[in-house]
Amino acid sequence: MVLHTMETAKATEVRPTRTLLDQLEDAGLLLRTGVDGLYIRTAAYQEVADGIDAMVSRWAATLHATRLHMPPLIPRTSFERTNYLESFPDLMGSVHVFAGGEVEHRQLLQRATRGHPWSELLQPSELMLEPAVCHGVYPLCARRPGSGPWLFDVSGHCFRSEPSKEPTRLQSFLMHEVVYVGEAAGAEAHRDMALDRGQALLESLGLEVAAVPASDPFFGRVGNVLAASQLDEQLKTELVAEVPGNSRPTALLSANYHRDHFGRSFGIETTVGELAHSACVGFGVDRIAIALLATQGLDPSRWAPSLRSLLRL
Ligand code: ATP
Ligand code: ZN
Ligand code: MG
Repeated sequence: MVLHTMETAKATEVRPTRTLLDQLEDAGLLLRTGVDGLYIRTAAYQEVADGIDAMVSRWAATLHATRLHMPPLIPRTSFERTNYLESFPDLMGSVHVFAGGEVEHRQLLQRATRGHPWSELLQPSELMLEPAVCHGVYPLCARRPGSGPWLFDVSGHCFRSEPSKEPTRLQSFLMHEVVYVGEAAGAEAHRDMALDRGQALLESLGLEVAAVPASDPFFGRVGNVLAASQLDEQLKTELVAEVPGNSRPTALLSANYHRDHFGRSFGIETTVGELAHSACVGFGVDRIAIALLATQGLDPSRWAPSLRSLLRL
């Protein structure tokens, strides 16, 4: 009788549907590493991501933006000038290195071979993991007072400590930003123009996006106040899309007007000696790639020729 019940249960058991991440792995696009939000990209996946990256750069080149490729790390001294420590401590990551001698090395190996914690024997280095690629350009502007306005086309891998089962929320992901630093009016105009152009680029790929006012996930109780005022002043707009399998609409691009926040913290002067204002429009290259794969199909060789040609596939 017991056996019969078990067999019935087995026969009617609904096989859990494959998640988007399962499907991306089955299709040979992303490979799990064992850590949520950290995936290995295959050539088939990377071709799509590179196509998106290059498309953004072709547009930025028409604006005569300076193309820069950011390392995935930022000097700790620069990091301290951004608002990350105050506002997003839960997302940041630090690089620690071994700086001991032979005695400390033996201790390290002993702990590791016994399966004991060993990373506390490492020392903080002068590097932090880069959380947003625009952070790398402000020190460059500060070094050349009065020579702006500056326009950068900048991309690189970012880190955020936000492990998730949704493959569109990664801990290590490619961000591509077009960043203006200069007068207040120029920054606002850049934000508006780049948001429009970004929307047109995403729509040309067949993605349905909606522009929504947004706020950053500022930490703690003070953070709630900061987020409310960011919304109030309409400083951040996201272009969101429905990605099959995701619980909420997903931001594929964000447009931000920082006022003189970075100008003040990095000491950036405009041509007339005022504090610079800045604005950035950030494309989430991996998110756009995954949104395309989730909506157009997991085999890019079968995508519409018009889409393939836009991405130069
Ligand atoms: P979200 O609200 O989804 O957390 P965000 O507001 O933190 O996004 P930004 O800080 O504005 O995003 O970053 C610029 C772009 O980088 C986003 O529009 C998104 O496309 C992409 N992005 C942000 N966080 C991630 C992540 N964890 N994984 C992949 N892409 C991301
Ligand atoms: Zn930015
Ligand atoms: Mg976020």
